[in-house]
Amino acid sequence: MTDRQLAPWIAAQTAQLLQQRGHAWLLYGPSGLGQFRLAMEVAAAWLCESVGTNGACGICPSCHSLRVHTHADLCVLMPETTMLQHGWPLSEKAQTEIDDKKRKPSREIRVDAMRDAVEFSQRTSARGRGKAVLVFPAEQMNAITANALLKTLEEPPGDVKFVLATESVHQLLPTIRSRCLGHAMLWPSTAAGQHWLQAHGVPATQSAMLLRTAGGRPDDALDYFVSGREVSAWSNVVQALARGEVAFFKEWPVSQMVNTLQMVCHDAMAQLAGAQPRFIAGDDWRGRPSWTGLSGWSQALMTTRRTMDHPYNAGLMLESLVAQAKTALNSRD
Ligand SMILES: [Zn+2]
Repeated sequence: MTDRQLAPWIAAQTAQLLQQRGHAWLLYGPSGLGQFRLAMEVAAAWLCESVGTNGACGICPSCHSLRVHTHADLCVLMPETTMLQHGWPLSEKAQTEIDDKKRKPSREIRVDAMRDAVEFSQRTSARGRGKAVLVFPAEQMNAITANALLKTLEEPPGDVKFVLATESVHQLLPTIRSRCLGHAMLWPSTAAGQHWLQAHGVPATQSAMLLRTAGGRPDDALDYFVSGREVSAWSNVVQALARGEVAFFKEWPVSQMVNTLQMVCHDAMAQLAGAQPRFIAGDDWRGRPSWTGLSGWSQALMTTRRTMDHPYNAGLMLESLVAQAKTALNSRD
């Protein structure tokens, strides 16, 4: 996960949340709007030693230990795969089990981790500024873990605050939702989104298109841009897709795969519409896929994007994505 500059719309929402005295927040909205980042900013502000109205100071010892992921008063409750992806340490027990190949990192928030969190919330604060528990993505709690959290939310042990973030609020137990103050993530303006993308190295000529392809979600747009740079030989990618060669994409993370497919689909549609493709040179296309085939594919990819965060079987998912691409690219009017 790259270290991304705090977006102005996240900063504004941090200030807004800090004005209210919630001890349990639930941040919700579709992916790519920055709920994890906002949750982290809120937790940082709760623990900061010289917090201002706009949030954490960023330089005190508390802010420092938070940044290096060693804060004793912050408990981050995430699936192990998400912990690893964001560079957060696992519990010693979990790390040993994974190192010894007894099991793979979990895609779900584990019962063991929840037990540790409950124990954490009953301990005294190490730095004397209270404690914070951050849960993300909150929909990755199963019934057992959710109920354990619920008990703690109902009778919070005093100096602990909670911030839950989700990209799929309807999957949460209604009782969890009702115990938290809800905050719907705000959509940034197009201008602010483009400006932020450019500050992260996206050329001005591409920022508008990327943001549109990502449905107005700047984080997702930046992910596209990054995977576009990672794909060196577009002609091979397009050919492998048209032939349905799953092996070509073996080991590709699902998110990168979906980003790439969206770029291919976007450019195929641009090409058909007589517009300039952004990523893939014109001569990489063989044949002219049908508009109906491509627009159906584009819709399907957007749906996948909304639900792809935690595929239970990445291999099967990859296979079906490649099959879908093959059909679309070979469709004819
Ligand atoms: Zn601070």
